[in-house]
Amino acid sequence: RSLNGRAAVVTGAGSGIGRAIAIRLAEDTAKVAIWDINAAGAAETAKMIEDAGGTAIAIDADCSDKAAIHAAAEETRAKLGPVAILVNNAGIAPFTPFMDIDDDLFDKVIRINLRGPYLVVKEVLPDMLAAGWGRVINITSSSVQSGSFAQGHYVSSKGGLMGMTKALALEFAPSGVTFNMVPPGFIDTPMLRAAPIDVEAFAQTLPMKRVGKPEDIAAACAYLASEEASYITGQTISTNGGRYMG
Ligand code: NAD
Repeated sequence: RSLNGRAAVVTGAGSGIGRAIAIRLAEDTAKVAIWDINAAGAAETAKMIEDAGGTAIAIDADCSDKAAIHAAAEETRAKLGPVAILVNNAGIAPFTPFMDIDDDLFDKVIRINLRGPYLVVKEVLPDMLAAGWGRVINITSSSVQSGSFAQGHYVSSKGGLMGMTKALALEFAPSGVTFNMVPPGFIDTPMLRAAPIDVEAFAQTLPMKRVGKPEDIAAACAYLASEEASYITGQTISTNGGRYMG
């Protein structure tokens, strides 16, 4: 499966799921820009890709900061060409009982998880529209289906991102740019390991008796980014090991 050397942006690819997505898109011949506030992690992902013979650049960027996003997009275009594929993966997932969420924390989660993707899409969509081809993949969360204890802010932000994905899919359907989403179930990353969950015990409650791997999410993203997925927009590939169906 080839992405024909197109330029891809993966936000939050200095760790976990984003890293696996960046590596997979590079294996599929995309030139990948890794945008992350974790500069060391981003550089490590880029090195992993380069060492495997791929093309990648690491950019230290806060994906909720409009000026930083603009600068990151300019650098990406200059080094890799117009952006053709965007994976909005950067996110934070605090656990806070609802009555303890202060207004600043609520705003922060929305700013990073929802307003960030809105800003990044605005920045790179003109490249895709000019080319008449583009792929936007938003990493949402299975928690929108299930709810999640002490995550009123997080689930609100991911639900908003799901709504945005569908609205933009419809608005840009004639343009050659598709918008889809991948809601992960429980995936073994630093984020999951930081959560107040006994991962090994929880895994036994899942249909497949295991949590997912970052590569499971990357595979769904690779398909949605490919030529073969050109007639798929506004859709969801739920990657949760069968925990939620339909
Ligand atoms: P992670 O914490 O391992 O990685 C997240 C990355 O995003 C980090 O490198 C972090 O530095 C980066 N990031 C955070 N805020 C940023 C910002 N403002 N600008 C740029 N980069 C930023 O987490 P993960 O598990 O790999 O999660 C990736 C995505 O998948 C997130 O959107 C998360 O909500 C979603 N998700 C994860 C799971 C899971 O079980 N791991 C489940 C559902 C959804």
